Amino acid sequence: MKSSPSTYSRTIAEKTTATKAIFSSESDHRLHEMLATNKFGTFFGVSQEVLDSVWQTLTSQTGESVIYISMEIGADLDVFHPVCDRLQQLEITTHPDESINQFLQLFLQGPVKIPNYSGGLGVLAGDTLKSFADCKIPVAGISLLYRQGYFSQLVDSKIGQIAWASQWEPEKTPGLYLLHDPESPSQPLTIEVPFYDLQGIRFAAHAQLWLKMEINEALDFFVPEILLDYQTPLSPDWIQDAAQHLYNSSSEKIKATQRRLLGAGVTPVMETLGLTCRTMHLNEQHGVGVILSLITRLLQEKYGAHYETEVTDHDILSAATEVAKRLVFTIHTPVKAGHDRFDISVYEELVNPFCRRILNLLALDTHNPSVYNFTAMAMKLNRATNSVSRLHKEVTQKQFPQYADKITAITNGVHHLTWTSDARAELFDTFPDLHNWRRDPSVFANTEALQLNNKFRTYFEQAWRTDTKILVDYVNQMLITHRNQRLTTWIDPPNYLSCLKDEDAPLEHTTFTLGFARRFSTYKRADLIFADLDRLAAMITENNWPVNFIYAGKAHPSDEPGQDLIRNVLAIQEELYLKSNGLAKLVFIPGYDMHLAKMMVAGSHAWLNSPKRPLEASGTSGMKAALNGVPNVSIMDGWWVEGYHNGQTGWKFGYEGLVTPEHFSEQPSSLLYNEDSDSFYTVFPEMLRLFYDPTLHDQYIDKCIANLTLNYPIFNTHRMAAEYVARYDLDLAPKVQGEMEKFRRLYCSDPSFESGLK
Ligand SMILES: *Cc1c(COP(=O)(O)O)cnc(C)c1O
Repeated sequence: MKSSPSTYSRTIAEKTTATKAIFSSESDHRLHEMLATNKFGTFFGVSQEVLDSVWQTLTSQTGESVIYISMEIGADLDVFHPVCDRLQQLEITTHPDESINQFLQLFLQGPVKIPNYSGGLGVLAGDTLKSFADCKIPVAGISLLYRQGYFSQLVDSKIGQIAWASQWEPEKTPGLYLLHDPESPSQPLTIEVPFYDLQGIRFAAHAQLWLKMEINEALDFFVPEILLDYQTPLSPDWIQDAAQHLYNSSSEKIKATQRRLLGAGVTPVMETLGLTCRTMHLNEQHGVGVILSLITRLLQEKYGAHYETEVTDHDILSAATEVAKRLVFTIHTPVKAGHDRFDISVYEELVNPFCRRILNLLALDTHNPSVYNFTAMAMKLNRATNSVSRLHKEVTQKQFPQYADKITAITNGVHHLTWTSDARAELFDTFPDLHNWRRDPSVFANTEALQLNNKFRTYFEQAWRTDTKILVDYVNQMLITHRNQRLTTWIDPPNYLSCLKDEDAPLEHTTFTLGFARRFSTYKRADLIFADLDRLAAMITENNWPVNFIYAGKAHPSDEPGQDLIRNVLAIQEELYLKSNGLAKLVFIPGYDMHLAKMMVAGSHAWLNSPKRPLEASGTSGMKAALNGVPNVSIMDGWWVEGYHNGQTGWKFGYEGLVTPEHFSEQPSSLLYNEDSDSFYTVFPEMLRLFYDPTLHDQYIDKCIANLTLNYPIFNTHRMAAEYVARYDLDLAPKVQGEMEKFRRLYCSDPSFESGLK
């Protein structure tokens, strides 16, 4: 029997309501599954089972887990926020249970910036911990919580960079929890770290413990990051001041204090939380002070309460050898400013006489016995030292010849789920060749066929246009905002284009767009390609090839030469615009952070890196571009030596000869501005020609796709994590171990290590 139209529609309506009811009770259930509690607090995003099992591993007597110690961790939620993504997928916006609803609103609408990083080192730490979570490697991270962040950057056209305290509220940030003291749950969980005043009297610095959960995309594993917050009234004012900003370097003492707040906090945190991690990974030497407490504890166990007076120097040294077996150290830079050396006198106020005795035995600088060299100490006391690219390994071996044998390379990577743009991710999702790419970035390894797949090439270009439009719209909106703000603030708009008439100013998304963004520091030579403006403008006007140059980056507030570089870039804008008849538009975007980085790497048509070789130990922003299929144009330094593949993936320029200790200098006279810019001017027209000439454009896209097939499988943190796991020597579940081996088979940063492994 045929049903009448009205009956028919009623059945549909009933059906829909019924499905909705089932769906909502199911999603209700899903939300309860996302709530978990233990003696330290209540957490949102993982199930009770996941919380318990991760915690159980990290506190198990076997000690088969790792503590990852880093001065900074960059993991902003506006670039990767799996819990929020899941809620959006489930389309849940409110919940009747108020305790759940609060979390729900916080995760859907709460702040997304966690300004606990300054640049590449912190972003790498965040990316690394995310991959450990994805791959289910039991790791806990530890860092400080800086209530004034690093700094917020304003830029004035004449003054240049202006640094402000970052405003953020840890209390209101999703996924960040102040832990409770299990003994008295209304109180925060705290640790204390001993310090000494000028008279040698002991006092304590107190930190409350925060936990940031780095939850993986499947929500079935997480890495806890413990953040030490010394800004409690229990700590003396000067300690609170020293902990306020990341890399506060207003005095030697403050710098050294900040390092101690991290290093000396590690064992108290482990004891308070019951963490048993046998292996400790130092992400750069900042936290190397942990060695002092490890040695002291070992001696105390062995020689009892009076160890301080009873042990010989030999006992201390053998304890140090014992402790070193637990440590894995990654060195990140050959640049002096990145290495910690402090005057001995500073330590008279920071540690007790016994710790100074340890330091005198282990940390004295060989060239200058009035300073402690902490980089050298970290290099001496570990079971594995890693540099962050193959070239950086050679450089590090030359800088520390006495440890050359134990230095190996693990080339950095980036977290692919964080850095692949939404438009690119959607593209990857739709191609069967790339099935499962979210879980397994190695799927890109066998996809050469994509080069010949016209559908893929077309969709790739479409996704790219979407991303370029997002970037260019952002810049244009910023230019207008700055112009309007002119009347209401004392900041002079940083960009010349803000001052032009509306119709002249806006950037176009069809214009070739070159991106450059990173910390501004002398050796990174942000203004290199502007060394000869006439020549640069000429190649643009001769062929009528318009170019957008989009720049961003912060200089450390006490790095004057770094800030000069920002002023140089601003000062060039007008001249470049006029000399190129308005074809070249150079824009500086203030406030570089992860979100801007993601927008820039995906929206640019090429990514520029112009450091002085070999001072860029790795560099990671170029990898972020590569994972979006954006070619790099770079000095042969850091990762690019490995990612260049004979030009299949981009362009190289500049000095690439032998590296000797003379090349380590950052003196202005040895920065090779003339030679390297000259070399850039020979490749740049070739790039523009491939981009603009319709008969050659296919060759440009070839390079893009080659980035996906050749670089995606290598320069991701899953592969990097797998190489670290081999150094950690962990006993892992066979399934996890198998995945790690699969990633390691894709690439081996250091064949000499692999042969040692057998
Ligand atoms: C990736 C990233 C960096 C590091 O860039 P490099 O090219 O390695 O210097 C610095 N800052 C932010 C915000 C980043 O996202």
